Amino acid sequence: MNKGTILVIEDDKMIQNLMATTLEISNYNFQIASNAEQGILKAASYNPDVIILDLGLPDIDGIEVIKRVRSFSCTPVIVVSARVDNDDKISALDAGADDYLTKPFNTEELLARIRAALRRKSYSNDEKVQDSIFINGNLKIDYAQGCVYVDDKEVHLTAIEYKLLCLLAKNLGKVLTHNYIKKEIWLDDNGCDSQLSLRVFVTNLRKKLNASDYIKTHVGIGYRMLQISNENSSEV
Ligand code: CA
Repeated sequence: MNKGTILVIEDDKMIQNLMATTLEISNYNFQIASNAEQGILKAASYNPDVIILDLGLPDIDGIEVIKRVRSFSCTPVIVVSARVDNDDKISALDAGADDYLTKPFNTEELLARIRAALRRKSYSNDEKVQDSIFINGNLKIDYAQGCVYVDDKEVHLTAIEYKLLCLLAKNLGKVLTHNYIKKEIWLDDNGCDSQLSLRVFVTNLRKKLNASDYIKTHVGIGYRMLQISNENSSEV
């Protein structure tokens, strides 16, 4: 059974082969692009469920690829790069990547991250059973459609941002610890960069929702979504 479609944008032949073998064994359909231009075209024409992206590409830098893909697609992007600097990770996440793995990578970990990215859909389906629309102040989440609105205007979130928002909404008013959130979103609580990633995702989410007072930071503990009353838009 095919479990999903993956686009790999990677110029290194050896890593291409490793990715191909890993994805094949796990029954994913996939295509490989050897440069950025080809990758962006395939992101549009092949419409994959997940994109795996190298940053060091021969024609266009990977960060720019993320920005271009984000201009037309919300497909989860997992960066797999040899760049280990926090600045590179932050730039990639800021540009719209959902996850970041450093080379050399563990193929099992890559597969786990792909599964986590693919769960966005099933996550919104689970929610549909319970309650298909969530409303808090001027924020609305349509779980059935997987769409988020602020003041009735659609906000485009990446898969991880969406998942994070749903998790906070589902636990409205409760403080969720960093470890709990990381486990729910990335499957593990000791990923080398998930602590950093979480902070970046919360910052991006706040920016996109244009209302930082929805998400309260509990320093050293975690995050909580505040319940906003509709009348005066203040915390209740
Ligand atoms: Ca490369």
